[in-house]
Amino acid sequence: MGTTPRELAGAACSAPGPLNHLSGIVYDAPNINGFADVHLAEGLAKALGIDAVFLDRDTVMAAIGEGVAGAAKGVRDFVYVTISTGIGGALVSGGRMLRGVSNIAGEIGHWPVALEGPRCGCGSYGCVESLAAGRFLAEAYGVDDAARVYAAAASGDSRAVAILARAEAALGNLAITLVNGLNPSLIVIGGSIAEHEPAHTLEPMRRAIDTRAFRVAADAVRLVPPGLGRDVGMLGAVISARERLAGRGEWFL
Ligand SMILES: [Zn+2]
Repeated sequence: MGTTPRELAGAACSAPGPLNHLSGIVYDAPNINGFADVHLAEGLAKALGIDAVFLDRDTVMAAIGEGVAGAAKGVRDFVYVTISTGIGGALVSGGRMLRGVSNIAGEIGHWPVALEGPRCGCGSYGCVESLAAGRFLAEAYGVDDAARVYAAAASGDSRAVAILARAEAALGNLAITLVNGLNPSLIVIGGSIAEHEPAHTLEPMRRAIDTRAFRVAADAVRLVPPGLGRDVGMLGAVISARERLAGRGEWFL
């Protein structure tokens, strides 16, 4: 409001991955047709007339926000998970963001959790996203909004109940993979579906961890909603830009 681009120190853009956060290029977003090899940071920098535009995955920015000022403040081993239209995440281990060699690490929506299942937007099948994300729940039930699947299940519709049972089992498998694979002390679960349907998301994940993960790892971990609330993505982007401008981005690179 009243601010011109000239007065901005920098800007951040959170985008669906996979993407390269250093070159600012989105490789290929499975949920957005035709959004491939987009030089997003460069385009935004030109449009805004400023140099410092920082691109990162929406979930990575949310994790940075949670790590700096939210539920994971001061926590060195944590996972951020979003359960929304899609499923994604970001992994922080020993105080560093796990990026992998191509910045794909943390694309946990595309971890397979079933031996078969619907074809996923990424080209694979059995991904937790294709079994438990809002877009796929709606598709499986034949409606345009996952909220209608939850409403139908609440009124006892057996087909909706079965779709949600499958989604909960998939989320349980994801939770165990995260706990046994990474041994975090905190899992922050954001996203609109997690926010509105904790009994169908956080609760089955907690139950799966309690009953099936390694005891020592299960005892060490807590599952919580984001400390920054529903604006975690946007606040995370602002905090992430501030960190990178201040030269503290290395902590997360
Ligand atoms: Zn997938």
